[in-house]
Amino acid sequence: MTQTVHTRARAEIDLAALRANVRALCARTPGAQLMAVVKADGYGHGALPCARAAIEAGAAWVGTATPHEALALRAAGIGGRMLCWLWTPGGPWREAVEADIDVSVSGMWALEEVIEGARAAGRVARIQLKADTGLGRNGCQPADWPALVQAALAAPEVRVTGLWSHFACADEPGHPSIAAQLALFRELVAYAEKEGVEPEVRHIANSPATLTLPETHFDLVRTGIAMYGISPAPEVGAPGDFGLRPVMTLAASVALSKQVPAGHGVSYGHHYVTPKETTLALVPLGYADGIPRHASGRGPVLVGGRVRTVAGRVAMDQFVVDLDGDTVEEGADAILFGPGDRGEPSAEDWAEAAGTIAYEIVTRIGSRVPRVYL
Ligand code: PLP
Repeated sequence: MTQTVHTRARAEIDLAALRANVRALCARTPGAQLMAVVKADGYGHGALPCARAAIEAGAAWVGTATPHEALALRAAGIGGRMLCWLWTPGGPWREAVEADIDVSVSGMWALEEVIEGARAAGRVARIQLKADTGLGRNGCQPADWPALVQAALAAPEVRVTGLWSHFACADEPGHPSIAAQLALFRELVAYAEKEGVEPEVRHIANSPATLTLPETHFDLVRTGIAMYGISPAPEVGAPGDFGLRPVMTLAASVALSKQVPAGHGVSYGHHYVTPKETTLALVPLGYADGIPRHASGRGPVLVGGRVRTVAGRVAMDQFVVDLDGDTVEEGADAILFGPGDRGEPSAEDWAEAAGTIAYEIVTRIGSRVPRVYL
C-alpha cells in the first residue's frame, strides 16, 4: 500500500530569487558595498542559508542585531565582514572580538564593555560608532558625539572601522526628517574624520533609502526587507518596480474539506456564519505559526484556483476558508503568500489585512513551519 505524506505546512525559500535580489541591489548601488541584513533568523527566511546565498551573490557584509546571532553565523562558517548593532549589556564582547565581528558602539557604557572584551581577547576590537541623527532609539546623541569619538580615539584597545546611523522615515518619501538626518550625519562624520577617525565605511541607508535615495548610499547600504523581495512600504513601490522577487512562499495542505449547511458558525466566537450551504476547507496554520489573528475574516488565501478570505477567527493551529460551493481535494495546496506566479497574494497583502507591515508577517512565521530551500 502506498501512503501519501502531506507536509502540513511549509515556507519555501527561493535562494535563487534572493541571489538575484542581491545582484539587483548591488547594481543599484554602484560605489557602495552591500550588507545583507539577516537578523531575526533572516527575517524568518533562515539566517544561515540566506547569509551564504547573499555572499555568493556579492554581499560584502552580513549584519545582525545581536552578537549572539553574529557568533552563530561565524560558528556555522560564515566568513567575511560582519557587524552586530544591538547593544546587549554584558556582551559577549570577548567572543565577538575573537570572531572578528565589528561591534556597534552608541555610548560610553558600551565602549567600556567592548574595551574590556578586547583586553580579554588580547586583540584590538573593531567598533563602529553609531550616531542618533533623529531616530530617537539607540545611537549616540549629537551632543555626546565629540566625547565618544575622543574616547574611542584614545583607547588603543579599539579601532573605529565605521561611522553610521539609521533613518526613522526613509519609507515615507519626502519626509522632512530624511534630509535633516542626512545633514546631521554628514556633520557628525566630518567631525570624527577631522579628529582623526579613518572609517572604512560610513553608512545610513536601509532598504527604502537604498531603493529611492542614492545620495544616502555612502560606502555601504544595509538591506534587509528588499533582499527578501518585499517592499518596505506601499509608498516606496512594489518589489517588481525594482526588479526584486519575493523569496518566501507560505503554503499548507488543506487538511479537511467538508460540506456544511447554511447558518453554520465557523471558528471561535462564530464571527462567520455560512450564508448558504457550502464547503469549508481547513488550513492547518494558526497564530502559533505566525498567522496574524488580526487577519481573522480578512487574510487572503489561494485555494482551488481562487483567492478566498479567512472565514472567522484564526485559531492557534488552524483557520478555515469558505470555498463558496467549490470543492478542493484534501491535501490540495493553500497558498497564503508568495511571488504571485500562481495568482497567490503577497506578504504585503497579508500585512494590509492584519494592519501591520510585511516585515512582521515574514519574521513571525514560527518554528513549526519547516523552511524548504529551493
Ligand atoms: N539597519 C538597521 C540598524 C536595522 O535595524 C535594520 C532593520 O530594521 C536594517 C538596517 C534593515 O532595514 P530594512 O529591512 O528596511 O532594509
